[in-house]
Amino acid sequence: MNREGVIFIISAPSGAGKTTLCKEIIDIFPTLRHSVSYTTRTPRPGEIHGKDYFFVSLEEFRRMVAADEFAEWAEVHGNCYGTAIRTLEESRASGIDIILDIDIQGARQLKERYQGGVYIFILPPSYEELRRRLNGRSSDSDEVISRRIGAAAGEIRESRWYDYIIVNDQFPRAVEELKSIVTAERCRASRVLEAVTEMFAIE
Ligand code: 5GP
Repeated sequence: MNREGVIFIISAPSGAGKTTLCKEIIDIFPTLRHSVSYTTRTPRPGEIHGKDYFFVSLEEFRRMVAADEFAEWAEVHGNCYGTAIRTLEESRASGIDIILDIDIQGARQLKERYQGGVYIFILPPSYEELRRRLNGRSSDSDEVISRRIGAAAGEIRESRWYDYIIVNDQFPRAVEELKSIVTAERCRASRVLEAVTEMFAIE
């Protein structure tokens, strides 16, 4: 059925399991794509320009900000990240659904600017579990972990204005919940009504 692409915006405190969930859901739905953001951070081993991110210089990023090319952008952990307006427009027009794995500042900007996005917040089951998960990431120092735990309460408060909240206590269940949200939003009457009107020649 012809319809505009749905834009799913997912945010979470660091350590809630957002990235893994996003990857899983994209594997499940062949017509759901990951929105490729622009970033000034350097690529990690294995990351591909144009697939994981568009890796750009700070100068190029600033040019894009000045030219109003971003639907949202934010500084996260010392690097700039942004979603191009073009990415959202192309998804909408082509009927391809996209998932934006972005931070809370960026999500709030989009909420103010765009109508029709679906806002999903991923929560860890508890502070204890969040700490345990962050400790399990060998890449982060104690200082980084403490800073992230400290920021979590403020971030979790923001979940109030999201459309959906998923508690990621058991990964398979969180995946099921996310799948259900994607499926339900695809069937939302307001998204398919135009196509139905055309298909069945109703007024
Ligand atoms: P990483 O560098 O680990 O890939 O991402 C760091 C953080 O930046 C994550 O929380 C991720 O959600 C966020 N992020 C990635 N792309 C964007 C974006 O386009 N806009 C915003 N606001 N945040 C982003």
